Amino acid sequence: MDEKQHHDVIIIGAGAAGLSAGLVLTRARADVLLIDAGQPRNAPAEHMHGFVSRDGMPPLDFLAAGRAEIASYGGRFLAASVVAIERSADASFGVTFADGTAQTCRAILVATGLVDELPDIRGVAERWGTLVHHCPYCHGHEVREQKIAVIGGPQREMSLKQAGLIRRYSDSVTLITNGIDLTPAELIRLTAFGVAVEHGFVSGLTGAPGSLDAIELTDGSAVTSDAAFIAPRQAPRDALLRSLGCQTDPATGLVGADGSGQTSVPGVWAAGNVVTPTAQVITAAGAGSATAIVINGWLLQQDLDAASVARPQ
Ligand SMILES: Cc1cc2nc3c(=O)[nH]c(=O)nc-3n(C[C@H](O)[C@H](O)[C@H](O)COP(=O)(O)OP(=O)(O)OC[C@H]3O[C@@H](n4cnc5c(N)ncnc54)[C@H](O)[C@@H]3O)c2cc1C
Repeated sequence: MDEKQHHDVIIIGAGAAGLSAGLVLTRARADVLLIDAGQPRNAPAEHMHGFVSRDGMPPLDFLAAGRAEIASYGGRFLAASVVAIERSADASFGVTFADGTAQTCRAILVATGLVDELPDIRGVAERWGTLVHHCPYCHGHEVREQKIAVIGGPQREMSLKQAGLIRRYSDSVTLITNGIDLTPAELIRLTAFGVAVEHGFVSGLTGAPGSLDAIELTDGSAVTSDAAFIAPRQAPRDALLRSLGCQTDPATGLVGADGSGQTSVPGVWAAGNVVTPTAQVITAAGAGSATAIVINGWLLQQDLDAASVARPQ
């Protein structure tokens, strides 16, 4: 257990966003505690792509490198799940962990990411991140020239975009509609672009563990596939932000944060997938960095105010 109980900043979530903020803040000599529950979103993937200079690095190696850098500047880590945040009368925050213990801080950064709600299709969960993907930019290049199925889902526009984007990587792309009703224009555009369209519902994925042979349909047919793409619902882990009263954006339903990560509640910032589900690792890290600089400026203003009040006139 960390022996110091009060900190300048508590960062909840030590993924790309939280770690990047932690690095900036510890280098700025802030007292920072990073708390993480050990469930980074991309953990199922063997390799991380699209982060310049880190392309192909295993996601857990990336996180370990970030932790080591922060620790070298004095940042501290706690393996725990935060269950509540409360504002104290003196405007500091109390952060409570699942084991009932608590610590306090002047500023909060919530970088808790999101949960991909996988469809209840047999064979998807165990292949998620290795043979079943969602992001062409992350793993499209790795499955180039393979037989690729795009399984339609609740995020209709994302499924259609996947089918088009994936076609650039392979001459063998099949969109299995799985509940999506294509307009005649959409059907013409996709098929003209070389995407095969199967109208039907998926019953399961087949293949030995660690491999994929085919996508089975409820009518008994099958689409031979080496890899699949799906578009799961994405649920931001924003319960802590909502419990603090952070306002949501009426257009998106997401907790709102401005370009510097500031929420509607003073002293509370948010960065990464928790407020920006589309953020990649590099953009989540960038948001964490930008937010950290603003938090540090805010801490400075507090310190200047306190110093001037304390100074004898
Ligand atoms: C399978 C897969 C592969 C991907 N591959 C790539 C890729 O190749 N390249 C790319 O750019 N992007 C990729 N992504 C997207 C990438 O995962 C996200 O962009 C990135 O993880 C966002 O970082 P984050 O810091 O916002 O969230 P996360 O990395 O998810 O970190 C959030 C952290 O907060 C912690 N946490 C949550 N709630 C609490 C709590 N209450 N208390 C304490 N800790 C908490 C979690 O345990 C987690 O460690 C992939 C996504 C998936 C699903």
